[in-house]
Amino acid sequence: MSKDALENANFYFDSAAKILGLSHDVSVQLKTPHRQVKVECTIQKDDGTIGTYVGYRVQHDNARGPFKGGLRYHYEVDDQEVTALAQLMTWKTSVVGVPFGGGKGGINVDTSKLSESELSQLTRKFVDGIYEVIGPTTDIPAPDMYTNAQTMAWIFDQYAKYRGYAPGVVTGKPVELGGSLGRAAATGRGCLFACQNLLEATGGTLAGKRVAIQGFGNVGSWAARLFAAEGAKIVGVADLSGGYVNEAGIDVEDAIAYVAQHRTLAGWSGADRIDGSAILVTDCDILIPAALGGVLTKENAGDVAAKVIVEGANGPTTPQADEIFAKKGVHVIPDIYANAGGVTVSYFEWAQNMQHFYWEEEKVNEELRRVMKNAFGALWHETKSRNISMRMAAYVVGVGRVHRATALRGV
Ligand code: NAD
Repeated sequence: MSKDALENANFYFDSAAKILGLSHDVSVQLKTPHRQVKVECTIQKDDGTIGTYVGYRVQHDNARGPFKGGLRYHYEVDDQEVTALAQLMTWKTSVVGVPFGGGKGGINVDTSKLSESELSQLTRKFVDGIYEVIGPTTDIPAPDMYTNAQTMAWIFDQYAKYRGYAPGVVTGKPVELGGSLGRAAATGRGCLFACQNLLEATGGTLAGKRVAIQGFGNVGSWAARLFAAEGAKIVGVADLSGGYVNEAGIDVEDAIAYVAQHRTLAGWSGADRIDGSAILVTDCDILIPAALGGVLTKENAGDVAAKVIVEGANGPTTPQADEIFAKKGVHVIPDIYANAGGVTVSYFEWAQNMQHFYWEEEKVNEELRRVMKNAFGALWHETKSRNISMRMAAYVVGVGRVHRATALRGV
């Protein structure tokens, strides 16, 4: 699975490198991660036993600025998956033009088996292992799957024990600790702006569109809320517990309130229950994968009904599925643009931390809208002028900028 994630990331990079005419040597340089760190995180559990977990931080590229990328706590995390995700971050920060490079981290752990105090201990042990290679001008982690603002607060606090007060060491923090207004919603909001930009370019509108979403965590639930607020109908959602469909449109706020109380949608009565993976092929106009990578494959791509796919998740589409979508005329808004709202507002948070000057939420959302619009302009121009997919266009823009920055700095 995670070996596939790296192969897929390299495949998309190699295709873009070919279009850009990059030499083999330069391609190898751009693909090779700058640093890979693997640390032991041992904690004493609440029942007195010892638990040992392995944590990773991969710093892919910093030609355009400090390494930047999320931290994932999941039982499938390994060095290859983290390396693939770190590479995606390099191209993503470049596509939206924020002055960061790419990195990613993770711990191989099933968070549902740990208490809050065990998670705090685990996070602090991880920081003990990596504090020398992270920092506000070095490498700045953020939330990803099964990490959240509380996780970032623990990192901020543990890092301060080594280096003093430095809120810019992580983004996605609670607002009380220097987090940015609008950060929690940012990835979902970025998906909305990305989709609106595409619809505007192709003469469509969101009103009345039927939307299905896989994943109902940070990205999926905010996307549901924001798409619904713009007049779309959310006809299906899925999380770890299964899929939930309602042709009349689900009550998003009710579903969010239910998950806040019960952790998942299991037992929620607001929709008909279907198999979790069936959400991907459910009848809809817009599909938003917002959970794990590698879910749209050659096995199910032919059955996907949506005409627009907004990649909220990182790496949800395999190259074989991508090819099928291209043949079917499905617009795939690629992850390195579609879900870049998170890292964009992380950049705003970091800028606020560095200046000790905080913005109104309205300003955050407007700046995000502007960044997503500008990035779309460049991407759409490449799509049309080169007659390539939006994914290839995003890679051409992202890789091209990193290549130029790397060349300017010299070996
Ligand atoms: P999260 O932990 O908040 O939520 C994950 C959701 O996915 C949960 O609802 C969970 O139940 C669901 N899920 C897990 N396994 C599933 C499965 N097999 N089938 C269906 N649903 C499943 O995570 P998140 O922060 O919302 O991240 C989701 C995706 O978005 C990830 O791919 C992440 O890399 C990507 N992403 C997140 C951000 C961010 O700012 N949080 C930014 C960019 C990209």
